[in-house]
Amino acid sequence: MELRTIASFQIDHTKLAKGMYISRTDGDVVTYDIRMKKPNTEAVITNAAIHSIEHLVATYLRSSPFSGGVLYFGPMGCRTGFYLLTRGISHADAITLTREAFEFLSSYDGPLPGASEMECGNWKEHDLAGARAEAAAFAPVLDGYTEAMLAYGH
Ligand SMILES: [Zn+2]
Repeated sequence: MELRTIASFQIDHTKLAKGMYISRTDGDVVTYDIRMKKPNTEAVITNAAIHSIEHLVATYLRSSPFSGGVLYFGPMGCRTGFYLLTRGISHADAITLTREAFEFLSSYDGPLPGASEMECGNWKEHDLAGARAEAAAFAPVLDGYTEAMLAYGH
């Protein structure tokens, strides 16, 4: 088997700004690139904070009226953002939903969902305050975000 260069490695990461992009479309499944950090430029999100963002945003998305169309939300290994996979959600609604999820997290002060030894694979590595700060910094990036802006290099 020959290893291929996958689509997400073909994006020029030196030109990638913070934002939300369509990473790929597979049939009716859309993968969004939620880019919270400018790659190779600013400090990446800490493991503890990205873990808490994952728990809270995933919980928010699955509690929303669009939960049936949310297939997956999870962090990028480079810790500069997340992937969101949806089905049957319009691009405009996906932008709004993502912005609302990060706005929700930016002021969330309750218990961290799923953060017990029974529910999580690394339950001690969380940072809710850090997650809140990252969400507060990113949510405004999606203010006034339009469908046209979902294209890489728009
Ligand atoms: Zn966990």
